[in-house]
Amino acid sequence: MALQVELIPTGEIIRVVHPHRPCKLALGSDGIRVTMESALTARDRVGVQDFVLLENFTSEAAFIENLRRRFRENLIYTYIGPVLVSVNPYRDLQIYSRQHMERYRGVSFYEVPPHLFAVADTVYRALRTERRDQAVMISGESGAGKTEATKRLLQFYAETCPAPERGGAVRDRLLQSNPVLEAFGNAKTLRNDNSSRFGKYMDVQFDFKGAPVGGHILSYLLEKSRVVHQNHGERNFHVFYQLLEGGEEETLRRLGLERNPQSYLYLVKGQCAKVSSINDKSDWKVVKKALTVIDFTEDEVEDLLSIVASVLHLGNIHFAADEESNAQVTTENQIKYLTRLLGVEGTTLREALTHRKIIAKGEELLSPLNLEQAAYVRDALAKAVYSRTFTWLVRKINRSLASKDAESPSWRSTTVLGLLDIYGFEVFQHNSFEQFCINYCNEKLQQLFIELTLKSEQEEYEAEGIAWEPVQYFNNKIICDLVEEKFKGIISILVSPLLEATLLLSLQVDPQLPFLVIPRHKLADQRTRKSLGRGEFRLLHYAGEVTYSVTGFLDKNNDLLFRNLKETMCSSKNPIMSQCFDRSELSDKKRPETVATQFKISLLQLVEILKSKEPAYIRCIKPNDAKQPGRFDEVLIRHQVKYLGLMENLRVRRAGFAYRRKYEAFLQRYKSLCPETWPTWAGRPQDGVAVLVRHLGYKPEEYKMGRTKIFIRFPKTLFATEDALEV
Ligand code: ATP
Ligand code: MG
Repeated sequence: MALQVELIPTGEIIRVVHPHRPCKLALGSDGIRVTMESALTARDRVGVQDFVLLENFTSEAAFIENLRRRFRENLIYTYIGPVLVSVNPYRDLQIYSRQHMERYRGVSFYEVPPHLFAVADTVYRALRTERRDQAVMISGESGAGKTEATKRLLQFYAETCPAPERGGAVRDRLLQSNPVLEAFGNAKTLRNDNSSRFGKYMDVQFDFKGAPVGGHILSYLLEKSRVVHQNHGERNFHVFYQLLEGGEEETLRRLGLERNPQSYLYLVKGQCAKVSSINDKSDWKVVKKALTVIDFTEDEVEDLLSIVASVLHLGNIHFAADEESNAQVTTENQIKYLTRLLGVEGTTLREALTHRKIIAKGEELLSPLNLEQAAYVRDALAKAVYSRTFTWLVRKINRSLASKDAESPSWRSTTVLGLLDIYGFEVFQHNSFEQFCINYCNEKLQQLFIELTLKSEQEEYEAEGIAWEPVQYFNNKIICDLVEEKFKGIISILVSPLLEATLLLSLQVDPQLPFLVIPRHKLADQRTRKSLGRGEFRLLHYAGEVTYSVTGFLDKNNDLLFRNLKETMCSSKNPIMSQCFDRSELSDKKRPETVATQFKISLLQLVEILKSKEPAYIRCIKPNDAKQPGRFDEVLIRHQVKYLGLMENLRVRRAGFAYRRKYEAFLQRYKSLCPETWPTWAGRPQDGVAVLVRHLGYKPEEYKMGRTKIFIRFPKTLFATEDALEV
């Protein structure tokens, strides 16, 4: 491996700086002596590799300083105990090669510098040896590196795990599902050129030999509003640009498309069809190839592209008002293409775009729409078509990933490794329904995180026979309840028929629980009340206060599609569309669940899935808003440390003991410090450690001896021991 060498003369000693393992070279008359500088003693320069070793562990400033030191040295990974904190380097650090994978295989977590592959390997080994399902939860704000981490993990497993005896294609399918999902679910935003606009949980199934044999994906809340509108500097979903840029002439002709994205109203709003970091043409090639790997037939690809093109044509439908101010379609060409691509009747579609069907006393009435309503209906249809196609795509991928051995007895012995790549906490200038859902999701995951971390700490103490010392922490269940409780929670209130104006009045405020602030709330202090505008409410999330505007809340939550539009789509001859729109929707008398209710249900299911597995956490941080390497924006990072709950995490982890290590490992490392244990200790490692620490003068309050591990309360004890090695 190439050494990054920096020679610093310090007397006779020259320090060689290796990116992960600094060493010292001592020049003597008999040659050169190389001593590895331990990662611990290099702490002044590169910080500590585990935040639990910070002396001042409650200080946010110390935490950030440690991150900064490491980031400066391109050390993007740091632990909080078993949790991996990762800072996006925005540059290729060449740290994910096959050699790196090998380096982390089979080694103990703490013996090598922190790395994503250390987590990957630890999780995999636990899955193999303990045969317990695992879940890696990756969180962080947009652009922090969640998706990149997920991809690297998948790559690690694809490359290092044994191949299954049958159905080796599953590995390719697991990898190839990604470009397809990204084409349809990712977009360029101001924060990230490849931003995932949906949450994703992916299970990878392993057989009893540890080979990947299947997978399953759950997707959450695609940001479908992007289909019809993008903010300045943002794009629609990648697939539209990829198809226009990379599609063959013949394909575009069939779809009635022009190559220029400027021709499509749904693609021009953000005014940035071209992005320097994105090559739509070559990405399209990758997607096309990936589609065949995940079992798409040629017909299915055609049907899928017809839908993508339909969305663009829909966006170009214009209306004009007749004498009675009723909307009329003026773009017949678009109707013609839609008729063909979606396999629907032109007249039915035209009527559905300009009228609303009402059933009153068993009679059908057609009520004409005005211009504004017609545009709204058109956009609603485009969003529904696209988002349902996305859901269909996930289902289709799942069929391709399903283990072919599902019926065989060996299926029962599979274990599952889950990867969760889901949006982080979001606070914008203007926060609406989407932020409300996303932040609720984060609130829920934070609750799970605290619960599981405390539980595993407690379990470890119990297993080691050490008395548990209760930890004070903020339990955010109270905020989750406020959002999700039956009858009283905000989501339930959103379901009852309301007007936006009265929504705020319906939110009940319990003076004992001031986590919700509405304008007239008696408890809100003067300052808070003033800063709340009309139609706003504020939630005091674990990560901070967020003010939400209720404008559009109910509309987005109800997500209505008029009956005649549904009918039209149910009649579609495009096989994908006809699977997306089912006639049962038409006959169903029951009101469909609202978006927030559906989201709540799927989130509760996700929590159950995660709870049933052994958790691992990767917390991603974005170093700056400019997507630039080497820039460490402290204000931005401080926010994320807060949103990710890292200080709370550290406090919980440090509540009892800063450091713990198996007796064998501890003895091996420090046995040279005591004549009785050096060079070999013949007895039990535990007894050796007892002799060793007595010799080192550890005071009783500084450590505890568990069944298999020594627990050290303060980092300084460990550092003193570590420094003694250097002498
Ligand atoms: P979003 O929530 O918007 O989907 P994200 O957390 O998934 O964001 P990524 O798409 O993973 O963010 O990362 C954004 C960009 O940052 C990547 O396209 C890549 O350029 C860069 N990046 C992220 N992680 C790394 C890494 N470990 N090494 C090098 N570059 C990285
Ligand atoms: Mg992402």
